[in-house]
Amino acid sequence: MSVMDDLKMRKETVWLNPDLQSFAPGSSVNGYSYAYMKAAQNRFVRFMPYIAKVFPETAGRKGNIESELVPLTGYEEKCRRLGTPVRGRLFLKDDARLPVAGSVKARGGIHEVLKIAESLAQKAGLLMPTDNYAVLDTEEFRRFFGEYTIRVGSTGNLGISIGRTAARIGFRAVVYMSSDAKQWKKDLLRGEGVRVEESDGDYTQAVARGRAESDADDHSFFIDDERSEDLFFGYSTAALRVKIQLLKAGVTADKTHPLFLYLPCGVGGAPGGITFGFKELFGDAVHCFFAEPVEAPCYLLGMASGKHGDICVEDIGLTGRTALDGLAVTRPSGFVCAMTETLVSGAFTVTDAKAEMYRREVAETDGIRLEPSACAGFEGVRGIMAGDPAWNEYIERNGLSDYMDRAAHIVWGTGGGLMPMDS
Ligand SMILES: *Cc1c(COP(=O)(O)O)cnc(C)c1O
Repeated sequence: MSVMDDLKMRKETVWLNPDLQSFAPGSSVNGYSYAYMKAAQNRFVRFMPYIAKVFPETAGRKGNIESELVPLTGYEEKCRRLGTPVRGRLFLKDDARLPVAGSVKARGGIHEVLKIAESLAQKAGLLMPTDNYAVLDTEEFRRFFGEYTIRVGSTGNLGISIGRTAARIGFRAVVYMSSDAKQWKKDLLRGEGVRVEESDGDYTQAVARGRAESDADDHSFFIDDERSEDLFFGYSTAALRVKIQLLKAGVTADKTHPLFLYLPCGVGGAPGGITFGFKELFGDAVHCFFAEPVEAPCYLLGMASGKHGDICVEDIGLTGRTALDGLAVTRPSGFVCAMTETLVSGAFTVTDAKAEMYRREVAETDGIRLEPSACAGFEGVRGIMAGDPAWNEYIERNGLSDYMDRAAHIVWGTGGGLMPMDS
C-alpha cells in the first residue's frame, strides 16, 4: 500500500521525506538565511516595552512572548506502565500558554502585525528603530493606525493572534472565519472590537474573500497565511528560545543526541517556520515531523505528490472537515512546501478520535489543558515508541539506532490556552 492509498482511505500513515538532505546550521534555504529569523527576533525585542505595556500578562517576562518547555513526566510514567516506555526524554512545548493568542499563532501573527505597524510609523517619520516603542501606546498613534485595516482569513487561532494584536495597536481588524471555526473564538474576537466575517465555506474560501475585500481597499493589509514570509520567520524565532530552554533542562542536541519534533500542521506556516529555525540552529541533530488529521492531510499530500500548493485534499476525495479545527486546511502553502522540501523528515496523519484521546491523557497525566488540534503530535511519539515500521525505517536509515536512549522528543502543544472551560 502506498502512502497515497492510505491518505485516500483516511488511514493513519507515515510519510518519510525522500528528499531530506543534510543541513549545516546557518545555511540558506531558497535564498532565505539565518538573518531572516534574527531580524524577526530583533523586531520582537524592539517591541518588548510596548508589548509589556499593552498586554500586561506579558509584563512578568518584560514583554517577551514565550511559553515553557515542560517535561511530560506523568505521560512518560503512563507510557512505561503500558509497556512502551519513551526512549530518551519527553517534553511538551506549551504554546497553549503563549500570551495574547493562547496558541502557536502568537509568534507568527503578532510578528507580522508588528512589522506592518513599525513600517507604517517609520515611513511616516513617527518612529525610529532606536526609540523606546512604548511610545506607540498613545491615542495619537492609535488614531494614526486607525486609518488602516488589517484583514486575515483564519480557522480561528490566527484570527485571535492577529485580531487581538491589531485591535490593541489601534488598527481596524477584520477576520474572515471558515465554517469550522469554533464559536468561542468568534465571540472572543467580537468582544475585543474585531469584525468577524463568517463564511459558509472552508478555510480556502475564507482566505479568498478576505484577500478580495482587502485588494479593494487601498488602506488595507491582507495577512496571507498561504504565502507569508513574515508569519514564517515569526514562527521560526521559537527555535532561538527553545535552544536556551533545552540548555537549562540539560538536554544536548547533536549527532549522538537526536532531537525529535512533532509539529501539528495546517497550512504549514507554523511547523515550517519552526523547522527552519531548528535546522538553522541544530542542523542534522534535529528531526522534524508534521502531524495532520486524516481528513485534512494537505501538507503530506502536497509533499508526497510533489505538487506542493497545486493540489488539495478534495482532489483525492477527502473533505477537510475535522474536529481538529486549527488543522482544518485543505491546501498547503506552496511557499512552506518549497522551504521545507529538504528539511522536513516526514509527516504523519492521526484520526480525530486519537487526537482527542491524547488530549484527555495529557490533561490527566500532567494536568495540561490543550485543544484537540494541539495533540496531533502525540501520535508521532506513539509510533516511534511502538516501533512502527516507518519510524524504525527512519531511525535505521539515519543511523540513529544506537542513540535513541539519549534522544529528546518535543511534542509541540500548539494551542488551547484561551479555550473556555466548558468547551
Ligand atoms: C494554526 C495551528 C496549527 C498549524 O499552523 P499552520 O501554520 O496552519 O500549519 C497547529 N495547531 C494549532 C492549534 C493551530 O491553531
